[in-house]
Amino acid sequence: MSETDFILAVEDLSVSFDGFKAIDALTLYVDKNELRVVIGPNGAGKTTLLDLICGKIRASSGSIKFRNQELTRIAEHRRVRMGMGRKFQTPSIYENLSVFQNLEVSYPSGRSVLGALSYRRTQEVGARVHAVAHEIGLEEQLKQDACLLSHGQKQWLEIGMLLIQDPALLMLDEPIAGMSARERELTAELLQRICKNRSVIVIEHDMEFVARIAHKVTVMHQGKVLAEGSMSKVQADPRVVDVYLGH
Ligand code: ADP
Ligand code: MG
Repeated sequence: MSETDFILAVEDLSVSFDGFKAIDALTLYVDKNELRVVIGPNGAGKTTLLDLICGKIRASSGSIKFRNQELTRIAEHRRVRMGMGRKFQTPSIYENLSVFQNLEVSYPSGRSVLGALSYRRTQEVGARVHAVAHEIGLEEQLKQDACLLSHGQKQWLEIGMLLIQDPALLMLDEPIAGMSARERELTAELLQRICKNRSVIVIEHDMEFVARIAHKVTVMHQGKVLAEGSMSKVQADPRVVDVYLGH
């Protein structure tokens, strides 16, 4: 596989907080249309890794390439425009706006040359909102205020607010925390659908869920990659059992 096939290439990446290496010379490659799951004990550095990739924090050293472009000195908002979407652990939707409005305000503003109020623009945004609402299973809730959604539906809405920007790489931090069994199932199906057109990195603890969605699993421990590969390979690794799965 040539380097150009990777959507994301993280090489020798490190970050320190007051001398503590939260990410320690980590290397990781994600393919186009891959759904990668990152697992590992609390404090392993999983969230910090996503913070570095999306540009919320700066690396101490190392390289992050997205579609072959070095990101290290590129600001967070520009990384969004380049095609990165990041969902944090706590949902950040607009509770007092409808589902439709939440999706509408997330539509990339710079994309139309016709201006915000034109008829064509309204049609274009509306069509896209409906398509995304269908994708996340909230078509029937479009007029409903977001505060009335279930916990799971709020998580999907936030995923929709990222999808409407059509990111090439979507990063989700513990998306099924607090969800019902049925909501987990629907989320697994949603993630399987959306990775057909993009790469997805998911941080998750629920191993049944991980087994259902992961193309490949990366196990992190103390800021490093402890193991990587198929779910069955990683589960059979005695070091992974020792630091994570055995608990
Ligand atoms: P995980 O998501 O795998 O549970 P984190 O990435 O949140 O782990 O944290 C990794 C380590 O880095 C933890 O020891 C955490 O306390 C530390 N850490 C994370 N962010 C900061 C920060 N902004 N300042 C200081 N320490 C931090
Ligand atoms: Mg975390």
